[in-house]
Amino acid sequence: MYDPLIDASPGEAQPLADSYWHHHSQPQWPKTSNLPDSADVVVIGSGYTGLNAAITLAEKYQQRVVVIEANHLSWGCSSRNAGFVMKSTGRLGLADWQTRYGTDTARQILTEHEYGLEKLQQRRSECPEQLQAQLGGYYKLAHRPQAVAALRQQYQTLRQFDPAVRFIEPEQINGVIHSQQAHAALHFSDCFALNPLLLAAATARKAASSGAQLVDNTRVIALDRSAEGYRVTTSRGTIQTGKVCIATNAYTPKGLCARLDNRSLPVLSSVIVTAPLTAEEIAATGLVPGNVMMDTRELKYYYRLLPDGRLLFGGRGAIQGKNADDPVFAQRLLHAMWQSFPMLRRITEWQYFWSGWVSVSLDDYPRIGAIDDNLYAAMGYCGAGVSFTSVAGERLADAAMAQRLPALPYYQSPLKRFPMARFRRLGQWLFYHYGRIKDGDWR
Ligand SMILES: Cc1cc2nc3c(=O)[nH]c(=O)nc-3n(C[C@H](O)[C@H](O)[C@H](O)COP(=O)(O)OP(=O)(O)OC[C@H]3O[C@@H](n4cnc5c(N)ncnc54)[C@H](O)[C@@H]3O)c2cc1C
Repeated sequence: MYDPLIDASPGEAQPLADSYWHHHSQPQWPKTSNLPDSADVVVIGSGYTGLNAAITLAEKYQQRVVVIEANHLSWGCSSRNAGFVMKSTGRLGLADWQTRYGTDTARQILTEHEYGLEKLQQRRSECPEQLQAQLGGYYKLAHRPQAVAALRQQYQTLRQFDPAVRFIEPEQINGVIHSQQAHAALHFSDCFALNPLLLAAATARKAASSGAQLVDNTRVIALDRSAEGYRVTTSRGTIQTGKVCIATNAYTPKGLCARLDNRSLPVLSSVIVTAPLTAEEIAATGLVPGNVMMDTRELKYYYRLLPDGRLLFGGRGAIQGKNADDPVFAQRLLHAMWQSFPMLRRITEWQYFWSGWVSVSLDDYPRIGAIDDNLYAAMGYCGAGVSFTSVAGERLADAAMAQRLPALPYYQSPLKRFPMARFRRLGQWLFYHYGRIKDGDWR
């Protein structure tokens, strides 16, 4: 698999990942165009961020926008994620924000995340299949008894901000889920799950109907300053533009833009999907379609029951792209699934297994805004972008149109550079070992 820390190209004209979504959805994609000679704004990357930026640029600012995608539209994370719609991004919770930046900032951050959720609900309501949304809420599960006290502590902070959150006590957890690795939970009732591929196609349709031109299977190779702004060299010719928004996120190839080099760690997240569970198995696990689950581990596992009764189970994958498809990583997820649900031990195979790159920033939260004259970027969501990208895309467009962004840390500074960047992968490997010890998974 393409490795952003090693390869200079994300590939070209590649079909969508061989995921469960790809095999079980019939997305309607909009028409794509050939590369025009000029644009007011070029957006690079057609995931949720790039498409949402294009919608705002075309609708709100009447810009001539061209979105350039190296592969199939939304080929990166946006067509292959787990579809959890949460009120968060990055790795920091509201309690962390409160500690770092104070109560007012934490409150404004929640408002920004709620805006993302609203925007997604709006998009959902516009779609014929309602994006196959499942509306049960998100449960953050204490994966072992020692994690309960910290989770309860988080609840004490969260309840000041968010009335939609409640605490599930240890003696109540069996009413939610029958897992050996669930000892209490936080429940966020307004979060939900959807089909990410349908969301990608719906966002692409909206961008096209707003007037953005979508150019697929065309790789951006270089950005050079010109009298008008930038000359963008692609694998299918050049385009002159006033401004460029980079929305390639974790898939940003080495050398595309010096201002982004060494400011993100691309990390593989992997998913398995089982065959449909039997009605008895579903009853034994207590899983309910619509509930999305993630645990308190440092190296988190996440899962949800899909509308057709299959279990989607995800977590960290390989460290290097060349190992991404090694079945050992799917097997590891299967083991983790058995640990949570011993009643599913008869399931010894997965039917789908795929991975994708998420962008981890040094200080655990994303940045959106200007990185140079007429050059803007959004990246570093740390694996939580399904809902936030709808806001991030809009803010990216606002930044490109010189509008003032909310006074939040996301929008006020560039991503930090990783110190000793060439050792990022070694650091990741060490972190995985530390995480396993901290999570009580070392054996
Ligand atoms: C397995 C997995 C599960 C996940 N689950 C969840 C979840 O449940 N909930 C959640 O909130 N988040 C989840 N995420 C993260 C979420 O999917 C991402 O944060 C989000 O989709 C990022 O969107 P994006 O538009 O910024 O980037 P992407 O969707 O990754 O798009 C970047 C695009 O840029 C293109 N590109 C790169 N280089 C070039 C170039 N030189 N020229 C042209 N195009 C280029 C790529 O081909 C790619 O299509 C998950 C991620 C993975 C991998």
